[in-house]
Amino acid sequence: MIPYSTQLIEQDDIDVVVSVLNSPFLTQGAKVEEFENALCDYAGAKFAVSFNSATSALLAAYVICGISEGDEIITTPISFVATSNMFVLLGAKPVWCDVKLDGNIDERLIEELITPKTKAIVVVDFGGKVVEIQKIKDIAKKHNLILIDDASHALGSSVDEQKVGLFADMTIFSFHAIKPITTGEGGAVLTDNEELAKRMRLFRSHGVVKKELWNSDMVAMGHNFRLTEFAAALGLSQLKKLDGFIRVRSEIASYYDERFKNEKLFITQKIPSNMISSRHLYPIILNPELQCPKEDIFKELQSLGLGVQVHYKPIYQNSFYREKFGDVSLMVADDFYRSEISIPCHQKMSMEDAKYVADMFLDTIRKYSHRGCSF
Ligand SMILES: *Cc1c(COP(=O)(O)O)cnc(C)c1O
Repeated sequence: MIPYSTQLIEQDDIDVVVSVLNSPFLTQGAKVEEFENALCDYAGAKFAVSFNSATSALLAAYVICGISEGDEIITTPISFVATSNMFVLLGAKPVWCDVKLDGNIDERLIEELITPKTKAIVVVDFGGKVVEIQKIKDIAKKHNLILIDDASHALGSSVDEQKVGLFADMTIFSFHAIKPITTGEGGAVLTDNEELAKRMRLFRSHGVVKKELWNSDMVAMGHNFRLTEFAAALGLSQLKKLDGFIRVRSEIASYYDERFKNEKLFITQKIPSNMISSRHLYPIILNPELQCPKEDIFKELQSLGLGVQVHYKPIYQNSFYREKFGDVSLMVADDFYRSEISIPCHQKMSMEDAKYVADMFLDTIRKYSHRGCSF
């Protein structure tokens, strides 16, 4: 099976992890800080605070910017549940904004959702394609809202040569196994705001500050959301390879773009020429006539060894959200879920793999294009 995404771990990655395992510090040593500095250098932000997952990082970001009971957060339903879960945990209410056919929040619809209770806008760079960040920044600024970018897909993406990580007030990355780089589990928040960074560091580690000798003081509530030293060492090693990973994923994506350019049965995610996408995903949006046989298409592709996946069920369609907030339906997001299918695109694939995926995908789609809906 060729998975839709997977990690690439090489001997040098293993060596740095083993060397940390043989060192005195498995946690709270120098590697975490080194990794954070490397993230700052890479993405251009002033501060990076690492966490043991992007979910912890999201929670920290939301807590530290003061999201609480009664606040409304404007966000996209086309994301992994954690994007919304972590502010719902704090008592805030999701205000869903519809998306566009590229999977990103529709910036034209944000302003009409703002109320006196709105506290923040949380966007997701779907598949690595950066949202209309300048327009969204302008909206956030005009209405004095916090802008948070869940860039879990988008480490290494850029617009006009500016990397994701310096656009929003806080930008979150994930280092889960199948994300653009991995530390096994891990995440980080990037920000230019020193105070926010300082408070997130406290939140990450029990809210405790060291004073003198044995005296430490707990000055704020906190968790233990720390990244280990060996995870940070892996992150450092992986970060050096990120541009190479993106080069391979871009080559595969460009090959698909070329193969699919005259297709009538589906569309693909278009990346503008001033943008680099991390190409975490290669999403395909099937024509309405292929929505009905999507289950069969999915099964057939899997049987051919294509580890396809669907990103994502709109968050509001999950039972928890239905029970808590009632039924929600957004036209494009619902349609996107019915139509989307992500095909394999990762740094471990060869061009032969890509050709096989494109061939099998086109064969299968053509086969089902005549079946349509049975009602
Ligand atoms: C993967 C992902 C997360 C969660 O990341 P973890 O590191 O697994 O906690 C959050 N948001 C998005 C958009 C993701 O893709």
